[in-house]
Amino acid sequence: MKTQGFLHGNCLLAAPIEFGYKAFFSERRKAMPTELHKPFPPYKPKGKEDYMNPRQLAHFRKMLEEMKRDLSQDIDRTVHTMQDEATIFADPNDRASQESDMSLELRNRDRERKLIKKIDETIARIDAGEYGYCDSCGIEIGLKRLEARPTATLCIDCKTLDELRERQVAK
Ligand SMILES: [Zn+2]
Repeated sequence: MKTQGFLHGNCLLAAPIEFGYKAFFSERRKAMPTELHKPFPPYKPKGKEDYMNPRQLAHFRKMLEEMKRDLSQDIDRTVHTMQDEATIFADPNDRASQESDMSLELRNRDRERKLIKKIDETIARIDAGEYGYCDSCGIEIGLKRLEARPTATLCIDCKTLDELRERQVAK
């Protein structure tokens, strides 16, 4: 509250900080929730390969580890930004939008943590030799689906059925 008058009369000082804050969050919104910071090169099979051979498993392990690293960095960065910029805004409108940004940010972080947990579970499946097969019916989930969603535990048919059931329960 003490800094309010100062900042009101000094938008030149506040502007670059505000720009940084807004730019930071819009950048993050684009990156959420499951995209990698940079695109991961897709797996290139060498001719006819066995499904989930060591090279394929190594590919998905690397992809999952990179996702996890990106997410952990995002969380660290968010924590620092929220600490650094928590008291900057003097204008009530700015404060309101900052508050809604922060609550969105907290929800994102919660989702990020859940996703990291899911990634850890998926890496454990690789270690256990269970990766790439549907939890429900046991068939191969398929490289294409795993490439788009490396944490998938259901084949596309079981996933679709699952979603249909969920929608019926929700009605
Ligand atoms: Zn299935």
